[in-house]
Amino acid sequence: MPISSRPHTVSLVGSTVEPRERIERYRAVVTGAAGFIGSHLCEALLAAGHEVTGIDAFTPYYDPARKRRNLGAVASHASFRLLAGDLADLDLTEVFQPEDVVFHLAGQPGVRASWGSGFDEYVAHNIGATQKLLEAACARGVRRVVFASSSSVYGDAPLPMDEAGPLLPLSPYGVTKLTAERLVDVYRRSFGLDVVSLRFFTVYGPRQRPDMAFHGFIDAVAAGRSITVYGDGSQRRDFTYVGDVVTALRAVADQERCEPALNVGGGSCVSIVEAVRIVERAVGRRAVLEYAPVPPGDARDTQASTERIARLGVIPRVGVEEGLVRQVEWQLTEAQVTPLPARRAGHRGDAERRVVMYSHDTFGLGHVRRNLALARALVQRDASCRVTVVTGSRHATSWPLPPRTELVTLTPAIKVGAERYRPAASGDMGRVMAERSGLIAATLTRVRPEVFLVDHAPLGMNGELALALEAVHEALPHTQVLLGLRDILDDPAVVRERWNEQGIYQVLRDSYDRVLVYGCRELFDVVTEYGLPGDVARHTTFTGYIRKDRRGEPAAAHLWGAAGRTGARRVLILGGGGGDAAPVFDAVLDAWPAIVRSVPAQALLVTGPLMPDAERRAIELHAATAGVRVVTFSSALLSLIGSADAVVAMAGYNTVTEVLAARRPLILCPRTAPRREQLIRADVMERLGVARTVRLDRPDVGLAEAIITSLSVEPPPASVWDRIDLGGAERVVDALLERRGAAAAVAV
Ligand code: NAD
Repeated sequence: MPISSRPHTVSLVGSTVEPRERIERYRAVVTGAAGFIGSHLCEALLAAGHEVTGIDAFTPYYDPARKRRNLGAVASHASFRLLAGDLADLDLTEVFQPEDVVFHLAGQPGVRASWGSGFDEYVAHNIGATQKLLEAACARGVRRVVFASSSSVYGDAPLPMDEAGPLLPLSPYGVTKLTAERLVDVYRRSFGLDVVSLRFFTVYGPRQRPDMAFHGFIDAVAAGRSITVYGDGSQRRDFTYVGDVVTALRAVADQERCEPALNVGGGSCVSIVEAVRIVERAVGRRAVLEYAPVPPGDARDTQASTERIARLGVIPRVGVEEGLVRQVEWQLTEAQVTPLPARRAGHRGDAERRVVMYSHDTFGLGHVRRNLALARALVQRDASCRVTVVTGSRHATSWPLPPRTELVTLTPAIKVGAERYRPAASGDMGRVMAERSGLIAATLTRVRPEVFLVDHAPLGMNGELALALEAVHEALPHTQVLLGLRDILDDPAVVRERWNEQGIYQVLRDSYDRVLVYGCRELFDVVTEYGLPGDVARHTTFTGYIRKDRRGEPAAAHLWGAAGRTGARRVLILGGGGGDAAPVFDAVLDAWPAIVRSVPAQALLVTGPLMPDAERRAIELHAATAGVRVVTFSSALLSLIGSADAVVAMAGYNTVTEVLAARRPLILCPRTAPRREQLIRADVMERLGVARTVRLDRPDVGLAEAIITSLSVEPPPASVWDRIDLGGAERVVDALLERRGAAAAVAV
């Protein structure tokens, strides 16, 4: 991602960080980016022109929806990338780069929940995750790690708490933070890792965690509920405004050298009762106080010695009265997100209509080709439309991009079995998943589309859409979410079992406004075969098959070579993307000598761009001995199909649709595993009389006979072809342009 060179202006939600011209920009990694402090830090770093990779697991300690909202202002920033994943699962050596500045804020905060069985979470997130991060930081040689420690490491140390003073935590939380600090020391001493621990003292301000005292006080006072004060309320806390914490984090990152541990205090040392009075003034309402015994784990008083951090020029700017007013303002109008000015998201009054289309594309080219065909049909129909195609395919650029369409390419992954995937390049699948789900969600919040069209997989690859669907639910109430399903997915029993296991029926109910089936109900009834519940069925529309628009395709006649001149019949051999087409090609090439003995014929074989190189070379050799021409890829496939006398193909959706549209004799050699989708489609087409099916997994396949017969007999009458509705693209465009609320009118 490019490092921004824009002028640095930003409206931070209530923060005091002054945007300032930086001489040196760096790549920052912020763990815990979606949290209270992390989200403010990301905004400040982006505003200063740094490139930021945010990592967050959206742990359920408090509502993850709140965390997603925290990221609202940065999600669409060009220099921000979100990895939605747990530090424990990600391969951080792939995330970190030499010279990165790593702000390690991810952790399990809060004193009270750290007792009892809750402790496991504290160990995992505060110690385990930190150790993993330090290992990766050493391995990659990052420039500096800044670790978010806590005043809890001091316990009841003498005031003001000095960095060199005793460290005697009173809570399990404090123990995990101190342990993490000790780990930090070990990595510094043993490997020379440049790492600094900052001990934050009770941070507050806009977006403060809901479990924290001020947050609870403000909610209670505003709602007229009572506040529980532990003890007599005379215990004092050093309250630190979040903007001052961000200033300290950035200042430490900028230093040439730094001491290993530094306090970050706010200089506003007030008692709890005084704090309540300030909240009363800010909210404009009296508080009702209830008293309860002091729970274990709390220090009596906290106060930071701030001499060390002051030497770096960091002094707290916001006093508690002023800071609390800002928090109250935020909390009472909570979740109002101000996008950064660099890429302000469009608002509903725009004349432009925006559609985001997603397909995971982990095998073959069918999904992305279908979405590109739909994008083209949409922008041709309505000039005010803009389409963003989000795809996992690296081959999406093999076809001309429709006008007013942008591509967002996800880190590619490859399907290696039922519901199993691996990264297309080397690396860690957890990171790939995190990158992909973060980018999809960020694209939606950036584009703010009127329609989000998901192809095929309701939860995306391995559930990668969950984050995006939640983001739509919370932040994009005007966005309609549509699911586009192929005519046939798989064997009905398999689909029902998988959808039950994965909770897909519930996802269809909760997250989708409509389901579009790109097929004909008379040929295969997805609603009954896959058991769509009544409420989902009511919002399901069969659109007909989606054929591609042939306009603009280059001519293809020359690819046939001498066939036209000799009068030989033309046989086109296709294998979709080509990833698993070699057995079909070999079978046709084996049969070819018998075919040409019986009918004068010439063949052209298109391997497809996804065929592995070694297989392609073997097929080329085989074809040369059989006298068959081979091309790898053709952007004029529809023209080729139209000029063929017969087409031999696997039974993928796009190929079948394109051959049906051209009304050419069709011999299908369907894939039979791992899914039975092609087999079912081939049977449907054979029963209809528009194709012959040849099962290569059976002995005595009869492929040569099927091709010879197809070249010899009369094609079926027009009435048979007419039974296949090919108007899918037009009807999908109708659905995409329909306004919310009109959907029920066209449902089945
Ligand atoms: P927060 O809970 O709002 O933010 C922490 C974020 O880290 C969360 O969004 C969570 O989802 C994420 N996270 C947790 N474990 C993770 C993991 N293993 N992998 C990836 N992400 C993970 O908390 P906050 O108040 O913003 O605090 C940030 C840091 O500062 C924490 O480490 C906390 O212990 C420390 N701290 C905070 C305060 C304070 O007053 N807020 C005081 C002292 C120290």
